[in-house]
Amino acid sequence: MDRRPITVLDPHVANQIAAGEVIERPASVVKELVENALDAGARRIEVEIRGGGKEYIRVSDDGAGIPPDEVPLAFCRHATSKIVTAADLSAVSTLGFRGEALASIAAVAEVEMRTRTPEQLEGTLYEIAAGKPKGRSPVGAPPGTTVIVRRLFFNTPARYKFLRSDAAEKRHVADVVARLSLARPEVAFRLVADGREVLVAPGDGLLASAVAAIFGPQSAREMLAVQFEMNGLSVSGLVGKPALHYGNRDRMCVVLNGRFIHSPSVIRAIEKGYDTLLPPRRFPAAVIHLECDPAAVDVNVHPAKAEVRFRADDTVFRAVHRAVRRALLSANLVPGHSTLDDTPPRPHPSEKGVAPAPLPYPRAQSPGEGRTPASEPAGKSESAQGEWTVVRAAATGKTAVFREESAVRELAPSWGADGSFEAGRTGSGTRAAPGVGAGEESGGREILRRMEILGQLHRTFILGETPGGLWIVDQHVAHERVLYERILRDGGPHAVQRLLAPVSVTLPPARSGLAEQYRDKLEEMGFLLEPFGGTSYLVRGLPVALSSPDPSRIGQLLDEVLSACEAEGRWNPHRLAAAVACRSAIKAGQVLDRTRMAKLVAELSECENPFACPHGRPIIIEVGRADLERRFGRH
Ligand code: ADP
Ligand code: MG
Repeated sequence: MDRRPITVLDPHVANQIAAGEVIERPASVVKELVENALDAGARRIEVEIRGGGKEYIRVSDDGAGIPPDEVPLAFCRHATSKIVTAADLSAVSTLGFRGEALASIAAVAEVEMRTRTPEQLEGTLYEIAAGKPKGRSPVGAPPGTTVIVRRLFFNTPARYKFLRSDAAEKRHVADVVARLSLARPEVAFRLVADGREVLVAPGDGLLASAVAAIFGPQSAREMLAVQFEMNGLSVSGLVGKPALHYGNRDRMCVVLNGRFIHSPSVIRAIEKGYDTLLPPRRFPAAVIHLECDPAAVDVNVHPAKAEVRFRADDTVFRAVHRAVRRALLSANLVPGHSTLDDTPPRPHPSEKGVAPAPLPYPRAQSPGEGRTPASEPAGKSESAQGEWTVVRAAATGKTAVFREESAVRELAPSWGADGSFEAGRTGSGTRAAPGVGAGEESGGREILRRMEILGQLHRTFILGETPGGLWIVDQHVAHERVLYERILRDGGPHAVQRLLAPVSVTLPPARSGLAEQYRDKLEEMGFLLEPFGGTSYLVRGLPVALSSPDPSRIGQLLDEVLSACEAEGRWNPHRLAAAVACRSAIKAGQVLDRTRMAKLVAELSECENPFACPHGRPIIIEVGRADLERRFGRH
């Protein structure tokens, strides 16, 4: 690999570099040393720490190494091989360029470097502590560089005091190494903490492999590829399906030209891409790689180079938002049944008081669950028309009989005993095989269009046969999504139903000012309000979509929407649409006949996003055919 000699930067250039302390904690040492290894072209990097890195940090690489006479120079301030002139600063392509990291680390710790270039027969050992060189000597060493940092901040007790517990510092180190390996999937990483292997990324060049190593293989399988280009900016990476969500942003990572960056605006763009697909205050898994001309970004704004400035910030925002949105919408976003295994269903905000419907089929590993379908040979029998199989719903103990070819032929009487299954009998007999193979079909919308409705389950779910298995549609959230999109689309005066007898509502004092402020906006969406003295209003009209408006609820609805807009500091029509949709949608427990179910599924298939309700809850769950076959021991 081509390397330029290390030289001390001209003070004029050095002065143009964002100043500030880069070494705050063990993780910053690790970050700087690993970045140096990456800049040296390493293919394998090993990090070892002890005591959270406060006691000991070792970073070894198989990169270019440093020639013996340049080693002491590497530890001088503003000594770097990466830039020479101020002009170089405007298009930095390496991770480092400040020439300060080694000097800063050596100033506050005991440092030992062993390094050898491939041309040299012998390596160099160099030691330095608290900024004072201890000597340089030849040493046997493999090509590459190993830096050991001991007793970080031993000479600066005030800074040592700011360090957190070993466990917390170790977490920071692991986070940094994880992000670096997500940034560079072509490099193999290994992190060992107190003798235990914490992270191993294979370095096979596939982002999916790095993601599997860091987030776990299960999560990696739930990620979708992103690929998009706009105005010379390429956006690629992997984003989690909406069913994969977390309580914090730890699994969101932004990489720009191979450097992981802290970019609130890109993070916001990713989150906006998910829009209503995630529940409130839940965050996706996403690794986004941005590639652009280095001249289009300024990396020289933050001493630790963690922040960058895009010269065209809004292009980046729009490109990332679109890239993520496209990936999510073009993929089949129906959460796999595996979500049933680990995520207990949460009561929906609009369904407080309605008992959650039982799970439609046994959980994979419920404790004390002896009666798996596969262990019920008595329930499975051959018949002349084909093979029949029995599924037992663990929660209810009820069974359904499926015929293997595809259509549900009959349902055991016990299902209907409580009257919950009147629409369940299809008697459809044999029918043509569906025209789409699950493998060829990426658009879930198309599957919805062609789905054969099998019936209603527990007056709550619509069951449909699809090429890939069984789809279970939550009737309430499905309808909620349909209404939500309709309200946003069809707002305007024609969407108003004038009330024969106006209803008076009284808002809490804190909201009435807002009702005044947003009166026009409310009117656009169908709420005709007329001041009625104090904090009271006469409601003369309501959105058409608001079915059977209950006067006592209107005030509550307005209060909810206005307080959400107040919290956001702006008018947000989505809030209003979601609130109206939520109240007007078909409820769980409502019997739907076949025509109504078919209509709802058809309307859902026309939605921009048929797969998550405005609150982010899934609308459809799939029980895969392969999974059914596996559970019945067919493979
Ligand atoms: P910078 O990375 O900003 O140039 P550093 O203080 O981190 O500054 O490193 C100084 C110089 O030491 C680098 O420019 C590079 O030439 C050399 N160097 C540091 N670490 C390594 C390494 N692991 N392998 C090869 N060269 C290195
Ligand atoms: Mg560096």
